[in-house]
Amino acid sequence: MEETMFWSKEGKKIRCGICSFNCLIENGSFGRCKLRYNENGSLKMKNLGKIKDINKRSVESLPLYHFMPGHEAMVVSTIGTNIDWISSIDDKVKGNKVKSEDLIKELNAKKIKILAFNDSEPIISFELIFKIMRLAKRYNIKTVLTTNGFISSEAIKKIGKYLDAAIVNIVASADKNFYQKYFNVDDSYAIFDALKNFKKHRVFTEVTNTIIPEIGEDESSHSNLVDWLINNLDSSVPYHLLKFEPFGRFKDISETPVELFEKFAFEAEKSGLRFVYVHDPYVAGYSTTYCYNCRFPLIERLGDAIIENRLDGDRCPSCGFRISLVIE
Ligand code: SF4
Repeated sequence: MEETMFWSKEGKKIRCGICSFNCLIENGSFGRCKLRYNENGSLKMKNLGKIKDINKRSVESLPLYHFMPGHEAMVVSTIGTNIDWISSIDDKVKGNKVKSEDLIKELNAKKIKILAFNDSEPIISFELIFKIMRLAKRYNIKTVLTTNGFISSEAIKKIGKYLDAAIVNIVASADKNFYQKYFNVDDSYAIFDALKNFKKHRVFTEVTNTIIPEIGEDESSHSNLVDWLINNLDSSVPYHLLKFEPFGRFKDISETPVELFEKFAFEAEKSGLRFVYVHDPYVAGYSTTYCYNCRFPLIERLGDAIIENRLDGDRCPSCGFRISLVIE
């Protein structure tokens, strides 16, 4: 049991400021994540410093399509979440202790230039990822955070200068009603705050949206999301439509059909998003990065694997147009 960051006292209660839920926690009780708790006026976290897994993967599989394409990343799966989605909010989480120094030295020895935190909600393990990210900077290792977007602005501010890229995973186009009904969240506005904060702190960002048939395919929510991204981030923000696959409490819902993907991808492009990707092998034409100016195929992929990268630095070799991506 270790002490944590970002909290303040409110009488005998504690206000946690790690994520946007800002739980007010009574003495002897846990916050929404079931990992942080008030112990006699001090905020503690169970299993702080533990992780579930470490593995090596391509950045494309995260998915990051415009950040150091073709590179491998060491991916650290952290414990804990604040949204009951893929992982349930569970206090019986298992994990192994990781030493920041050992992890960074291993990456350095293996010449892996990217360290990514994903699975569940890494921000719940804030103290751990902050420590590792700070160390990674000393070794010139790039850092990536995958998040559901429910992060406090203070946490993003603190981590921002050590964080190179973020993947913000949205579900059902951030439809407020969907988040209320299925995730027990009052509103999805926190996601948009996080996106703006990543931009403010110059963190390169890609956005995913998992389209869930029937319960999470509201067209007006999708149209609002796309318009918001264009107006508040940039029309060049890489936008990934992810396939929903039945599991757990959503096991009776069918997977995202091709026609739904095609409709949403077409709408996103028509509205002005320049880089729209569909993560379904049966949807043609949405896994390649095309030059926005001349439609030259810049990076061709099969699934998440790059078949051919024809970029000239960050420019199109055909017309010289600069593409919004990070090479090194
Ligand atoms: S990390 Fe988030 S969910 Fe957990 S106690 Fe803090 S504010 Fe609540």
